Amino acid sequence: MSAKSAFFIDVDNTLLDNDHIKDEIKISLVKVFGQKDADHFWHHYNGFRDYQKYIDFPKIIRGYCHELHGDKCRMEFMQVFNSIEFKHALYPKVPEVLKYLKSIGLVNLFTEGDLVYQKRKVEESGLKSLVDKVYLFDHKMDHLEEVIEDFADARIVFIEDRADYLGKIKSLHPEIFIIHITQGHYAKIKGENFKTINLKFKKVADLLTLKIHQIAVKGKYD
Ligand SMILES: [Mg+2]
Repeated sequence: MSAKSAFFIDVDNTLLDNDHIKDEIKISLVKVFGQKDADHFWHHYNGFRDYQKYIDFPKIIRGYCHELHGDKCRMEFMQVFNSIEFKHALYPKVPEVLKYLKSIGLVNLFTEGDLVYQKRKVEESGLKSLVDKVYLFDHKMDHLEEVIEDFADARIVFIEDRADYLGKIKSLHPEIFIIHITQGHYAKIKGENFKTINLKFKKVADLLTLKIHQIAVKGKYD
């Protein structure tokens, strides 16, 4: 008999259209601060992301406002961020997909970002209420081992838009089943081990066609 399945599903550009959210933030920032200051903010943002390898909006905003504007700047930024409606950014049929995967196994979110903005995103989008557990880290790939150790007896499946992350998971744990959702701008980056991807779907809604026999890893669970 097969062990229970455990899904680890990414959030940004897998369940939630983060490219769309970022475009909304860009438009709002230009309205509030003007094009020049908004461009300067994104320069800060890109510098932080390239150096730290993750996004921490509160820290980026603090750094930017400290340099240029002060408290008023921080308040205006918070207004922009507080006005984002995350629920509208879910990809089509995400609640149905999560409900369907829960009928097969345990469903976890495996996401990364800062503990303020990303946490809000996961809660206010409604995603938190649709899954069994949320794993949120600043650099999630650093926590892969501790996350999967709770599911040693399960058939583990990772679902992501980033082939480089999936390839890394597969190289460390060939027995894990990996599914690439080719949505968003990261989907174009292949990554070193992209050929090891088990299944590929264009849209997250396509997961509704997933059959339990497709995620079996031959040999390990038979
Ligand atoms: Mg992603």
